[in-house]
Amino acid sequence: MAEKLHYFDYAATTPADPRVIAAMSECLGMEGAFGNPASSSHAAGTQARSLVEAARAQVAALIGAHADEIVWTSGATESNNLALKGYADNAADRRHLITSCLEHKAILDTVASLEKRGMTASFVRPDAHGDITPAAVQAALRDDTGLVSLMLVNNEIGTLTDIAAIAPIVHAAGALLHVDAAQALGKTPIDVNALGIDLLSMSAHKVYGPKGIGALYVRREAAARIAAQMHGGGHERGLRSGTLATHQIVGMGTACALAAERMDADTQRIAQLAARLLDGALR
Ligand SMILES: *Cc1c(COP(=O)(O)O)cnc(C)c1O
Repeated sequence: MAEKLHYFDYAATTPADPRVIAAMSECLGMEGAFGNPASSSHAAGTQARSLVEAARAQVAALIGAHADEIVWTSGATESNNLALKGYADNAADRRHLITSCLEHKAILDTVASLEKRGMTASFVRPDAHGDITPAAVQAALRDDTGLVSLMLVNNEIGTLTDIAAIAPIVHAAGALLHVDAAQALGKTPIDVNALGIDLLSMSAHKVYGPKGIGALYVRREAAARIAAQMHGGGHERGLRSGTLATHQIVGMGTACALAAERMDADTQRIAQLAARLLDGALR
């Protein structure tokens, strides 16, 4: 008899929620919303467009943003690339970046590629608890620092960065704050205004959505400072061209709406499971 699979790697990816799968399936075939969301001259297009915009509002609601501040991407990796390279392309001066040595490869490798393009970077180190402290960020700031990029929840050690304390320091220095929230979305409350975030990377597949879809939150005031990395039809207010993947987008929107509903209950349930596990381990 086949043994039941016990899957413990939800930090790497999650299965899609059945309600996500159902919503996505409605966007693919002849009977569904298969139209091109950019086709504004017929019903197939406008139907798909309205689903895309409803999903945009669902993602925005989960992070306290305006819908027009959400740019669809293929995932958090692309969102991180768009934020950092998009900043670098438009930065005539202020070509120094700050990040941390605890970041995901999608940040570290992007920063490395920007260093080859003449940007300079500082890598903040964590304290003894694994935290990136406001004081450490403050100490790394320079006159020419233009962007600080830090993750909200660490994908390996689970630490939660005190973004609310770091944001005012970054802004006082005249820099933008980018946050990689791939591990945080739907698991801890995020309010981009309360936290003072200018750019925020998100991914659907860590929160019961499909792989291959994500978003970058771009604060209205920061939009002009980010250069597109994907050129074409001028989709997504010129920030990311490419025909919108209605089924993926609807999947991410549904996942975000479900996350908003169950975040409190999930947090409690997981805290209880963690307590039980530790209790058993220490016995
Ligand atoms: C998973 C992850 C990413 C990459 O996200 P994709 O959507 O898979 O590209 C980036 N940053 C962090 C912190 C992650 O956990």
